[in-house]
Amino acid sequence: MQPFSIPLSRSAFFRFGSPILLALALLAGLHRVPQLSSTSEVLLISLPYILFPVAVFLGELFNQSRTSLAAIILLLSYYIIQTWLQSPLSIQSTKLTYTLLSLLLPLNLLIIHRLPERRLLTRSGILFLFIIFAQFICSSVAISYLSAFDLSMVWQKYLIGFPLISRLPVAIILLFIASITLHAMLIFKRNQPHDHALFISTLFSAITLTFFQFPMISSVAYTVCSLLLLTNLINCSHELAYIDQLTGIPGRRSLDTEMKYLGGTYSIAMIDIDHFKKFNDTYGHKTGDDVLRLVASIIAKEANLAKVYRYGGEEFTIIFKGKAQADCMRLLEQIRKGISAYPLKILAHQNNETTKDAQTISTNITVSIGLSGNHNIDNPHSVLKAADKALYRAKSNGRNQVVQR
Ligand code: GH3
Ligand code: MG
Ligand code: MG
Repeated sequence: MQPFSIPLSRSAFFRFGSPILLALALLAGLHRVPQLSSTSEVLLISLPYILFPVAVFLGELFNQSRTSLAAIILLLSYYIIQTWLQSPLSIQSTKLTYTLLSLLLPLNLLIIHRLPERRLLTRSGILFLFIIFAQFICSSVAISYLSAFDLSMVWQKYLIGFPLISRLPVAIILLFIASITLHAMLIFKRNQPHDHALFISTLFSAITLTFFQFPMISSVAYTVCSLLLLTNLINCSHELAYIDQLTGIPGRRSLDTEMKYLGGTYSIAMIDIDHFKKFNDTYGHKTGDDVLRLVASIIAKEANLAKVYRYGGEEFTIIFKGKAQADCMRLLEQIRKGISAYPLKILAHQNNETTKDAQTISTNITVSIGLSGNHNIDNPHSVLKAADKALYRAKSNGRNQVVQR
């Protein structure tokens, strides 16, 4: 369920479209890389070594360990590229390293989806890092062993490529395309921050390895990739601070910020769910949480352009900018009616151990609303207080109603 309009920077469209646009710009500019001075070149080569560790650190800080893992994998692959892949691909060991890296990188990035979102230094994180390390050791051994053999038959027969376009075998290019498509589909399906991170990581590593013949491609693509990962993480930190986790709508901190900038004509409504304590006691706290999400989604959908916040507990606030008190009544009535008419279906268990005895109970929930405009009141906090007083009157008048100041 997408219960409310999310900011553009967190929309699936943006999370898919912005890396694609940057990737296209990068591909278009490949033929026109300016001649860099040796100092700028050293700086550009160093940037991913600085930016990826920052992404690992911020990922841990904001509980985005899957983004941290992607950053670790990219950092390691960049190190491999800079250390072992700066010689011509006609050298067998270089070609083997290049092919193995191109095969393992997208596969490992895919595996990250299956890992739980826990800190790096937990069992799953350590196990995954150990698997990466084991791959590194096994690949090194395999490469030094295979380098002694003439493998030209294998390349010609099984690892066919289009040398004019890319040095990669077609099968690996197809693997990259399939995994990029999968990550993109996950963005549109559930739009989690790590879907975005893994999409970016796969896209830019694919560009690097597919167009490996272009000078400085790895440093440019990996720098863009690390900057996008960091932007994604900063977006996550903003979400942690300003968005209410349970309902997904802006929380109290967002409201406090918005209140500082309120001016001109505006109105504030306070909405409180009626008898919610009793509802929790009857159907359980988890069902209560589901109802809070539902109420938030109904209010956010009905409120149109007005801004909706979770004030705290079972209370919500709406700010109507540019609207006097009387102009908000119709919409608030609509919200009240929408919530009271919503048919709640609750799965109640007569016996907690089995789902066989589960029964569906139909019930309803109501809200009381207090409203105040800023006419004759000089600051937003007093307007909110007046709306709260009106809410109190709605409660004492019998609930399930809208009362104006
Ligand atoms: P009234 O009609 O007067 O508003 O009665 P009420 O029971 O809704 O109000 P009261 O302030 O007595 O209780 C509010 C309840 O809201 C208490 C708490 O159990 C519930 N509540 C607050 N936050 C949450 C939450 O995040 N999840 C759930 N499930 N319940 C919550
Ligand atoms: Mg309350
Ligand atoms: Mg209440």
